[in-house]
Amino acid sequence: MTSRKVLDTARDMGQYMADYYYELDRIAKTGEKKIAWCTSVGPAELLRAMGFAVYFPETHSAMLGTSRMATDYIPYATALGYSPEVCSYMTADIGAFLQGVTPLSKAFKGIESIPRPDVVVFNTNQCRDVQDWFGWYAKRFNVPIIGIHGNVGVKDVSESVVSAVASQIEDLIAPLEEVSGTKFDIDRLREVVGLSRECSDTWKAVLEEAAAVPSPLTFFDGCTLMGPAVVGRGTQIAVDLYKKLLNELKEKTASGEGALESERFRIYWDGMPVWGRLGAHSKLFAGLDANVLASTYCSSWIFTALDKADPFMSMARAYTELFIVRSEEYKEAYIKEKADLYKIDAMIYHDSRTCPNNTNCRYGLSKRIEDKTGVPSLIIDGDLNDLRCISDEQTKTKVEAFIEQLEENA
Ligand code: SF4
Repeated sequence: MTSRKVLDTARDMGQYMADYYYELDRIAKTGEKKIAWCTSVGPAELLRAMGFAVYFPETHSAMLGTSRMATDYIPYATALGYSPEVCSYMTADIGAFLQGVTPLSKAFKGIESIPRPDVVVFNTNQCRDVQDWFGWYAKRFNVPIIGIHGNVGVKDVSESVVSAVASQIEDLIAPLEEVSGTKFDIDRLREVVGLSRECSDTWKAVLEEAAAVPSPLTFFDGCTLMGPAVVGRGTQIAVDLYKKLLNELKEKTASGEGALESERFRIYWDGMPVWGRLGAHSKLFAGLDANVLASTYCSSWIFTALDKADPFMSMARAYTELFIVRSEEYKEAYIKEKADLYKIDAMIYHDSRTCPNNTNCRYGLSKRIEDKTGVPSLIIDGDLNDLRCISDEQTKTKVEAFIEQLEENA
């Protein structure tokens, strides 16, 4: 049976994440810096430039998913009145907190809890759930909550849309200065934005190595390799790590070494991973010689518009240009372009029960793309964190039948 090969740099990425969480834990214990919580596509550059240590609850909740703890803790949030239909990152995270549990303790000896925030900062560009989620913690810890109310369904990223978001980012400075006790420094922001752009460009180049045939990368690798792009953007170490990863992938491409021993079919994944089934899904596809090699999801941390010469406007543009923020027309054109770039044979759409925001197959998009491109597609029902929404048997049967059909039509 074909299996997925492990990349050498994956070990460095794992070490980076361990160092990141140990550092946060130390800061939380010593109080040597203020801690800001930030949404995954929130204004991390500004927070970092203002001297905050930055913690990302979504990454923590993804760990609840990968460790398969999430499903057990969702009911504790449901008991508070949160529907099982709303974001299972949020409900698992709140539920685990209420029970005094964190996957950080399992992964990193000596860490007993998540770091207490001094301020929580959101951007609703991705969904409203983050505001509710962060709002719950703001009350719990009695700390300020501030944020950006981004746009959704954006067709054209016009100057007026970008300016409005840029003003909201600038408005965060005064309350952040109050919490941090330090003065905002535009040169420091320029430096962080420059590093964030470099991280983003290198991460983009990493993902695009998957255009090689065979691809040296899989979507399942990407889901864990993207950790530093989420939590470390704006730092030199994240840039250096992705350069190392890019070199490793380029060497593999040059020698014709693919991520799978055999890559018969090339597949694009739309939507979130099922965190608790990352390994199982990787094995399922690899066993069918099908390489799920690129995705909309892993590209969420590409911020090509970032420009240190114009930090506020460029941050606003970068956080508005994202796929999740865009209109159906844009999404359709984007996926078609990626299907060409990655020489895709088939598409998988993950209909993630509790995240309609990262689910794109509910309003006919998958069918429209299939009709226009002739690239066949399959919808898998599931969820990012709530394993009660998943039928492993049904997923396996559907995927096997789909690949068999591809074989027949090949
Ligand atoms: S985008 Fe989806 S998964 Fe992410 S926080 Fe919002 S609802 Fe949850």
